[in-house]
Amino acid sequence: MRDRTPESALKALQEGNKRFVTNESAHPRSSYEQTIMAKELDQNYHAIATVVACSDSRVPVERIFDVGIMDTFVVRAAGNVIGVEQTGSVEYGVGVVETPLLVILGHTNCGAVQTTIDKLYGCKDELTPSINAIIAKIKPAVVNVLNREEDLKGQTVLEASVEQNIWQGLHDLFMQSKLIRDKFVNGDVKIAGGVYDLHTGSVHWLDEKNVTQVFANVQSELDNNKK
Ligand SMILES: [Zn+2]
Repeated sequence: MRDRTPESALKALQEGNKRFVTNESAHPRSSYEQTIMAKELDQNYHAIATVVACSDSRVPVERIFDVGIMDTFVVRAAGNVIGVEQTGSVEYGVGVVETPLLVILGHTNCGAVQTTIDKLYGCKDELTPSINAIIAKIKPAVVNVLNREEDLKGQTVLEASVEQNIWQGLHDLFMQSKLIRDKFVNGDVKIAGGVYDLHTGSVHWLDEKNVTQVFANVQSELDNNKK
């Protein structure tokens, strides 16, 4: 069985990303033999991380972390938004496959986040109802950034919104899933946020304190809803 602690899982993704960036990808567990093995084995004992990422073709999750078959349980949606189906998928990854790590991965120059910003600035482009539903999920993140009183510490509105959208996704996930809240509280899963840089190929890992902050915010929202 693989070493499947939260720390070793995060380290494996970080080291894989380092290999990818330095053009030294090892393409582990990617051979046809691995697919034969996958047929016979249970992914529970192998997959190390559940990863929520954007659908963008420039963010191929297994490639950028240099992982292979049975390594990551991947949930993708434009703008890495977390609606009910994504929450259910994360519950499969964390609750059934029991990955010790959950990563929410945004990326630079995200088109879905940019469209949300454009909409808020009054762009009148017609979007389909389904795309509007994605934009509605991202909107609170952009509004949060635009309402910040302090400056954006050198970040553009798009850069800051991409980061905030990761925490918005985690907020939505926690709100929708008692299972994930319980797993997090019990220390069964470590949660990490990261931004993939389209130009360098590297993943910038965000401050872990945000995760506990988002959890605390959700807890108080839930307590208030009960009152
Ligand atoms: Zn994107």
